[in-house]
Amino acid sequence: MAVFSPTHKVLVFQGTYIAEHIITKGTKDKIYAPYDITTLEELGEPEKAPGAFAKLLFMEGIGPNKLRHYRICLQDDEILKALHDNKDVDMLAFIVYILTHELIHIQRFFSGKADFSESNQNEEEIYVDNLARVLLAKHPIIGIKKIFNVLDKIPPPPLYKCKGLIDNGGSINAYL
Ligand SMILES: [Zn+2]
Repeated sequence: MAVFSPTHKVLVFQGTYIAEHIITKGTKDKIYAPYDITTLEELGEPEKAPGAFAKLLFMEGIGPNKLRHYRICLQDDEILKALHDNKDVDMLAFIVYILTHELIHIQRFFSGKADFSESNQNEEEIYVDNLARVLLAKHPIIGIKKIFNVLDKIPPPPLYKCKGLIDNGGSINAYL
């Protein structure tokens, strides 16, 4: 199973900054929601999503504080495989594309524009994919056009939602 190297992780860090900037400019709103990003080495079984580039979880802990946050689980192996199969795709641009998509979900869920627990997940995915493309077209980064060409050729991952328990007994919900 291929995992990100330290160099790849630097690109994830840079990509996060760029994706946040694109969303803040494009929607004229900041991302206020607490979130973190994990890569494959740190992922538990419920956080893995074979066939997808990322999985988004809403984590709710137990205890008096009931801390809640979103977690973007990057699937290193799927991302590296896509890059291997499409040698002209730039990794930073690809990471920006993936994170822009996930951060739009987070912004929408946190602001109440979409409901994480609702069942119309298909509509949410289509809306977010379209908005990500619009924002990336408005604030283009080098290499993004090639990524859309590649994405249009591969079948979209199956949409699903799961609810399960995490180690500390809290619950999770998942989006791609
Ligand atoms: Zn999605």
